[in-house]
Amino acid sequence: MCLVELKNSPKPIVSCAMNAKSCLANGDIYTNSPLVKKARENVLEFLLLNHPLDCPICDQGGECDLQDQSLFFGLTKKRFFNFKRVVLNKNIGPIVKTVMTRCIHCTRCVRFATEVAGIEDMGMFGRGLGSEIGTYVEKLFQSELSGNVIDLCPVGALTSKPYSFVHRSWELKSVSSIDFSDGFGTPTQVFIKNNSIIRILPGYDKTSYSTNWISDKTRFSFDGMFSPNKTIHSFLESNKGQSLINLSWQKLFKEFFYTLYFQNHLLKNCYRPHSIIMCIGENTSLEVLNLLNILTKQYPFFKLRQPEQRFLNTDLEQKYLIDSNFDDKIQKSDTCLLVGINPRYEGFKLNLRLRLRYLKGNFKLIQIGSLINLTFSNINITNSTKILKSLVEGNNLFCQEVVNSSNPVVISNTEIFKRQDSFGFVSLLNFFTKHINLFSQSSQNSSFNILHSSLGSVGFSNFNNLKTIQNKDFKEANVFYFISNSFSTSNIKKLLNLKLLNYFQGYNLENNLLITQSSSLDTKLITKLKRGFLLNTHLHLPNTVFFETSGTYVNTVGNMNKLNRIIKPSGKTKDNWQILRKIYSYSKKMLFITNFYKDNSVAFNSNNLSRFTNFIGFQYYAVPNLNNVAFSFLKTVKGHPHNTSKFKPKKQKLFNSQFRFWLNDFYVDGKNFNSNVSSTMIQCSKLSRLNSTNFKF
Ligand code: SF4
Ligand code: SF4
Repeated sequence: MCLVELKNSPKPIVSCAMNAKSCLANGDIYTNSPLVKKARENVLEFLLLNHPLDCPICDQGGECDLQDQSLFFGLTKKRFFNFKRVVLNKNIGPIVKTVMTRCIHCTRCVRFATEVAGIEDMGMFGRGLGSEIGTYVEKLFQSELSGNVIDLCPVGALTSKPYSFVHRSWELKSVSSIDFSDGFGTPTQVFIKNNSIIRILPGYDKTSYSTNWISDKTRFSFDGMFSPNKTIHSFLESNKGQSLINLSWQKLFKEFFYTLYFQNHLLKNCYRPHSIIMCIGENTSLEVLNLLNILTKQYPFFKLRQPEQRFLNTDLEQKYLIDSNFDDKIQKSDTCLLVGINPRYEGFKLNLRLRLRYLKGNFKLIQIGSLINLTFSNINITNSTKILKSLVEGNNLFCQEVVNSSNPVVISNTEIFKRQDSFGFVSLLNFFTKHINLFSQSSQNSSFNILHSSLGSVGFSNFNNLKTIQNKDFKEANVFYFISNSFSTSNIKKLLNLKLLNYFQGYNLENNLLITQSSSLDTKLITKLKRGFLLNTHLHLPNTVFFETSGTYVNTVGNMNKLNRIIKPSGKTKDNWQILRKIYSYSKKMLFITNFYKDNSVAFNSNNLSRFTNFIGFQYYAVPNLNNVAFSFLKTVKGHPHNTSKFKPKKQKLFNSQFRFWLNDFYVDGKNFNSNVSSTMIQCSKLSRLNSTNFKF
C-alpha cells in the first residue's frame, strides 16, 4: 500500500523500503498519481483475493484497517471467481481467538512475539499460497503480554476470545483510566456500554508520548470486579441467628454508632479503654488514607493498623521508589542486579525496559533468587542471603563483574520491607550501591530501586509507620473494622490459624463487633474469623470497586495518577471516602468519653525526622482532592510536633535465609483482589499450570 511513483522509474517503488534522500536526488516523487492509485487498487485486490466476506460477523468490524483501506483505495468491482483459500484456526490459548482465513500475512504478530514478548513460538510456515501463521505444533501463546497481538493485528485474524461476538466497536464509549493491576498505573482506555465495562485497551501516555503495552491481567481481569459473588448489599448478622439484609445507610450508621456509644460508656464504667481497630488494605487511595488520619486524630480510640508488617526505615521517598531517571540510567549501565524479584510478573513494564536494554547488547543481568525465565538470558548466582552478603563484603567471584561494570543498577521489591531483618537488609543494599559509586572508576550513577507491585503501595508507604495488626489487638479491642479486603492477608490468616490451634489463650471479651467494608467477602474466612476471635456481630458495609470510584495514587516511579469514576456504583454501594466522611460527621454529633489528651492537631507520628517531608508531600497530594474536609484539616494544623531527640538508629541484623518469590502464578496471584475471582484469569492459570506440571488440574 506504500507504493509511490518516482520520475523516470519504469515501475512504482516501495516507499517504506527506499531511502528518501537518494530517491529525491534521482527525480520527483508522486504519491497520488494515476499510476499510484492503480497500483494501490491492485495490491488491495490481491489482499482481498482470498479474504472471506466476513465483515458482518467479524469482531474487527468498525476498527479494521483492511476495511478502511478498501473503502479509500479499493476497487468496487470483483474479478475473482475461484474458490477462496481456507486456513484452519489455531488454538493459542484462552485470550486470543484466531480466524486464520482472515490473515493477510503482515507478520506483525510474529515480530511482536519474538521482539517484544520474547516468545519465539509464533512464525510463518508454508510458502506462497500455502503460507500460514501459527505455532506449527499446537501450543499456547504463553506470555503475560499475549493480549497485545489482538490490537496489533490489522484484521480480524486475531481477536479477543472473552470479547467475541459481545458488542460492535461503534456502540461503545471510551474513557481514559489507569491500570489497577500493578504499581505503574499505566494509562488505559476503558470501553463502556450501559454502565458496564466491556473491554480495556492500552491508553495514550502523556509523559512518554506513546501508547504502551498492557498485560493480560490489566486487559481481562476486570470481570472479577463484577463477578456474581460481589457483595453489593449491606447486612447485619448476630451469632443468635438474627440477620437483617439490605439495610438503609441511615440504619447502618445508626446501628454502628449506637454500638460504639454503648460500648464507649460501658467500658468506661468498667475502667477499660475502648478501642476500635481499623485495618486498611493496601489498595487505598490517598484521600481515604488522609480521612483516616483525621479521624484517628479526632478520636484516638480509632486505632489504625496495617494488615501485614512493613518495616520501612528509609528517610527519603526516593529510597523506596524506582528512580525517575531509570530509563537514562539503564541506558548508561551495563550491569543490573535483581535481588529477590521477578520483574516479569511483578511489573512487566520494568521487565520490558530491561529486555530492551539487553537487546541493545553489552548488558549483563545478575539475578539473586530462584531460577526464572525473564524472556532474555540472565545469570542466577544464588538464592541465599549469605551469598549476597559475601558479594557486598567483596568475597565473592562475582565482585569482579560488579567492579568492572559501569553504573550498575540494583533492583528489589517491597517484600524486603516485610522481612524481620528488613533494616539490616536495606542498609546492606544501600551500602552496596554507595560503595560501587565510590570505588568503581566508571560508576557514579548507580542506583538502588524498589518496585511496588500494587497501585496504592507507595501512598501507603508515604502515609505513616502504621503498626501491624497482632494478636494483642484481637485480645483488647472491641470492634474490628476491616477496610478493602484487609482481612484476607497472610498475616491475619496466620494469626487465625494459631488461634484455632489454641496457641493464643486468655480471650475473655465477648460481644465484639466485626465490620467489613469491601466489595467481596470470603465467607469461609469470615466464619473462621468470627469463631476464632469471638466476634459475635458482623456488620457489612458494601463499598465500590475500582472503576466505580475516584481517587489519587502515587505510582512506583513517584508520579501522581488520578482516577475518575467511570461507571455508576451498583446496588447500595458507597465509596470508601463517603463512608468514612459520614462516620466522621456522625462522630461529631455524639458525646464519646474519649481517652485522649486535648490536642486535635493533625500531627505527624514518627520517630524519624526525615520522613516528615514525605508526610507533608503526602498531605499536599491528597488535600486538594478533599474539598469537603480540607478546611477541617487546615483548621486543626498547629505545626508539626516532631521531636528530634526521639530519633534513634535502629538495630541492624541480617538473617541467613532463602529468597522466595511471593508471586508464583501471574494470573491469579497478586495484590489486587479481582484476578483470583476472574473467570478468564482462572482459565489462563489452569492452562499455564497444566503446561508446566505433570499433574492434572
Ligand atoms: Fe471485514 Fe476486516 Fe473482518 Fe476482513 S478482517 S472480515 S475486512 S472486518
Ligand atoms: Fe496475520 Fe494478523 Fe499476524 Fe498479520 S498480525 S500476520 S494479519 S495474524
